[in-house]
Amino acid sequence: MQQYPIPQDKLAVMKSLPTPSFVIDEAMLIKNLKRLKYIQDQSGAKILLAQKCFSTFRLYPLISSYLHGCVASGIYEARLGHEEFRKENHVFEPAYKPSDIPELDQICDHIIFNSWNQYNLHSPRIKNASIGIRVNPEHSTQPKNHAIYDPCTAGSRLGITIDLMPEVLPDDISGFHFHTLCEQGFDDLESTFHAFEQKFGKYLHQIKWLNLGGGHYIAHEDYAVEKLIDLVRYIRQKYNLEVYLEPGEGVVLNSGVLVTEVMDKVRNGMEILILDCSAACHCPDVIEGPYLPPIHEAEDNANGKFVYRLSSMTCLAGDVIGDYSFQHQINIGDKIIIEDMAIYTMVKTNTFNGMPLPDIWLLNSDNSTELIKRFGYQDFKMRLG
Ligand SMILES: *Cc1c(COP(=O)(O)O)cnc(C)c1O
Repeated sequence: MQQYPIPQDKLAVMKSLPTPSFVIDEAMLIKNLKRLKYIQDQSGAKILLAQKCFSTFRLYPLISSYLHGCVASGIYEARLGHEEFRKENHVFEPAYKPSDIPELDQICDHIIFNSWNQYNLHSPRIKNASIGIRVNPEHSTQPKNHAIYDPCTAGSRLGITIDLMPEVLPDDISGFHFHTLCEQGFDDLESTFHAFEQKFGKYLHQIKWLNLGGGHYIAHEDYAVEKLIDLVRYIRQKYNLEVYLEPGEGVVLNSGVLVTEVMDKVRNGMEILILDCSAACHCPDVIEGPYLPPIHEAEDNANGKFVYRLSSMTCLAGDVIGDYSFQHQINIGDKIIIEDMAIYTMVKTNTFNGMPLPDIWLLNSDNSTELIKRFGYQDFKMRLG
């Protein structure tokens, strides 16, 4: 569990905001962006924001001042990237709606296909974008219980396997893409690249670019940044390719929190806090993963003197964030700070149970705050009838 030290003055500002609120920490985001810029500068890699992880476009001008572009997983993200990021725009979808292709061709620089069916169907209509295919190196590096996030798991639909590759690559294919990692260090990228190189290396002199996907835990302090730089240099020199990386978490790791208030305390064999946020509605990966998000000033175990189960106001029995040990007693009305809540949260919120959506705030580097977005009843109602 990685904690990030929140200075007292920042903490006071976070706790002064209405709850529930997502608070994006500009200083932490800039710290990650500087690391990514260093990798770009040293290696020649082009780094793209994976918008599916974080699409709070109020921050796109800042992010785009460091990164090369962004990547979309669907038509709306592609449009958002085009309108708000305004740099290189890439899209990958397992299947494209034929009606979306003309627009995607206009607004995207790279369009990546997941199968030969998709390539054969759509590529004749692509006039502007550079065409790529996603391949599957069939080199699984994730634990077996992580199959939900492992595109190399058996039976995966993601990417063309080597047995389906033709002898000669069609002329209009300019690039390859693979994405196989999730929160992983450099060693797993290296072994994946070697599996990829062994299988697909013979095509590499025919293409112009290689996209190494996302899942690189680059923002983590233990990540072997210099080794990544060496690998990118090797690929660029040996095969004369443009190299792309498209991290999501690697851009916004530890760049935001969810501030919530304790609404009630109940007892059932243990002390249970009912918070005004919800795992199911506001950070569903906590349940899907599952994982325990870091909580400020708490340990993710039940060993301490002040142990609480953090749960929510919804009626879902399993809407639980987890059991934590705090340093002191927690009371009704206290604010609790859930850390690392910029990743895969604001992009995944929903209003199940009629739960209100959290505000989105920006905490600037000078500790001033700015309300980016407040939602209301209409945001709930408008999607339902
Ligand atoms: C999810 C995804 C990413 C970003 O993954 P992170 O783990 O957030 O870095 C990048 N590319 C593709 C194709 C993805 O599906």
